[in-house]
Amino acid sequence: MPNSVDRPRLRDLTARELARFEQDHPRSRELSERAKANLLAGVPMPWMSEWAGSYPVFVAEAHGARFTDVDGREYVDLCLGDTGAMTGHAPKEAVEAIAEQAAKGITHMLPTEDAAWVGAEMQRRFGLPFWQLCLTATDANRFTIRLARAITARPKILVFNYCYHGSVDETILTIEDGVPGPRPGNVGAPVDPTQTTRVVEFNDVEALEEALAHEDVACVLAEPALTNIGIVLPEPGYHDALRRLTRDHGTYLVIDETHTICAGPGGATRAWGLDPDFVTIGKPLASGVPAACYGMSAEVAERTETFMRSLPTTDVGGIGGTLSGNALSLAAMRATLEHVLTEEAFERMIALGERWADGVKTSIERHALPWEVQRIGCRAEYWFTPTPPRNGGRAAAVDDHELARFTHLYALNRGILLTPFHNMALMSPATTEADVDAHSVVFDEMAAELVG
Ligand code: PMP
Repeated sequence: MPNSVDRPRLRDLTARELARFEQDHPRSRELSERAKANLLAGVPMPWMSEWAGSYPVFVAEAHGARFTDVDGREYVDLCLGDTGAMTGHAPKEAVEAIAEQAAKGITHMLPTEDAAWVGAEMQRRFGLPFWQLCLTATDANRFTIRLARAITARPKILVFNYCYHGSVDETILTIEDGVPGPRPGNVGAPVDPTQTTRVVEFNDVEALEEALAHEDVACVLAEPALTNIGIVLPEPGYHDALRRLTRDHGTYLVIDETHTICAGPGGATRAWGLDPDFVTIGKPLASGVPAACYGMSAEVAERTETFMRSLPTTDVGGIGGTLSGNALSLAAMRATLEHVLTEEAFERMIALGERWADGVKTSIERHALPWEVQRIGCRAEYWFTPTPPRNGGRAAAVDDHELARFTHLYALNRGILLTPFHNMALMSPATTEADVDAHSVVFDEMAAELVG
């Protein structure tokens, strides 16, 4: 039986939890029904219909590591806006900077002093000397891919099977039964993504070498560890091979740190000593205000500037955006980097990540479940398999939606929000040991009920 979980028992428990959810959330149900009149599926964005309850919980207020819903229930938030609120909700210093800047003008399409501060701070953290601002990590990846293609004059990029880098057309493909093609569920792709992209499994040096040998790949776009199909860590030596092979074949290496910022103040790039040509990052940089950026080496910057100077104009070339680098985002980024996501904050957050993982591990052992925990810094999650997968294909194969829905719902009903789509918990500077221990208790009760 998959995961040694008794399926009829699981279905009974899920039905019980759904009934409890509905009883506890009448106001969210009302708002959800009302919203259906004008919003598709009653939500502003499709992913919000994927939560474990019968309808999404509507938020009233969020502060620090907790939020309250419209039914007056309080939650420990371990999802933290899927990293967008890794700062904790509404951190004081960022809120003050945002209010102050909002009163002085939000966007001008002109730089403010904060831009230079942010550029210097990004260099200090990630090592790369030159930076550009944008609004989302998706943007950062799209613009980087375009630049890499432009300056190498190569048509393709390479990504890893079951990666996620935002709604970037070139990245939404997978390998199914050994054949690369549009990822199942890819909506309205402009072209078959195999025309633009090579895809290989993570941790497979041979496949990478073979793909790069075509010498048509402008850049590899990689998370340092996959985080969007569960956490899949690089095997020893993999990053060295990735760096060597990309250099040997004239391919740029783009490291997407949007989630792996959880590894430390300079992401996995600094924590693991990586040496990329580009870094992209978004989500928590401005405490939840849209802000993202991409950095590049001096060599890439020089080629880029030469290329940009050759253009008749830069405003219609597919890089940039009206609101990119706006004053509000920059003020929020500066306050976040200066006061919230600090070196000291990461030390505390990473210790909490360890504590959370230890709590889950202890229960897994106590109840003899064939599950495992993976962690990168302050981000941790459990797998419904005893051996964590070494690549995206295997990770997708062991996905257990029915079981994950139950574990999420069980936690939600007891005041704990996990990240949807996988069993992930993230720590913020405002998260406490008591918050983590609250999860450990609930997880243990859940495990006990599951094994019966
Ligand atoms: N890169 C990575 C690694 C991500 O996980 C995500 C979103 N989950 C993105 C990019 C895109 O971020 P956004 O949706 O904020 O553009």
